[in-house]
Amino acid sequence: MTKLDLLDKLNEKVCNCQKCPDLVANRTHTVLHSGNPNAKILFLGEAPGQDEDEQGEAFVGRAGQLLTNIIAACGLERKDDTYICNILKCRPPRNRVPTDIEARNCEPYLKLQIKIINPKFIVCLGATAVRHLLKITHPMGYIRGKWFKYEDAHVNADVICTYHPSYLLRNPAAKDDVAEDMASLMEKVNATV
Ligand code: URA
Repeated sequence: MTKLDLLDKLNEKVCNCQKCPDLVANRTHTVLHSGNPNAKILFLGEAPGQDEDEQGEAFVGRAGQLLTNIIAACGLERKDDTYICNILKCRPPRNRVPTDIEARNCEPYLKLQIKIINPKFIVCLGATAVRHLLKITHPMGYIRGKWFKYEDAHVNADVICTYHPSYLLRNPAAKDDVAEDMASLMEKVNATV
């Protein structure tokens, strides 16, 4: 089976998922991903927002536009060079932070998704991604720019954490830190080609 076949099968499971009553009752679409399944860089966000829930695609709203710009500033093309997904596949009502139970319910989908993509690099966008992928709860200001490992099944990815684009929209002063973290990402990416 190709990656696309495997992702289609996963998407069908996600679309039919009924594990989180509060999310199921409020969702328009489930949101699996955006971008290129063959990319070696995976960006991991928190959960779909309103635009993503309406369109069924990850990071298509204001935060998504900013993410597109951040990726372009790395010299990358979002749709070709990156794969983008979230901790949750459903929008939490009023964009509240996902609960631990919701993240745990969705974790098998995320783990399978990462296994299918098999990225070499993962960029955790914001504290929710860090908390549920790496199980680290330190403040973002402390862990951003540091390198971690994600190892599961055959996946062995280098992970870097940075601020979520929604945080950047509210705190533009953090853009220098994100630029520094992305420079560190590209240095490692370019050193491993
Ligand atoms: N914020 C996220 O974390 N993910 C999206 O897909 C959109 C906004």
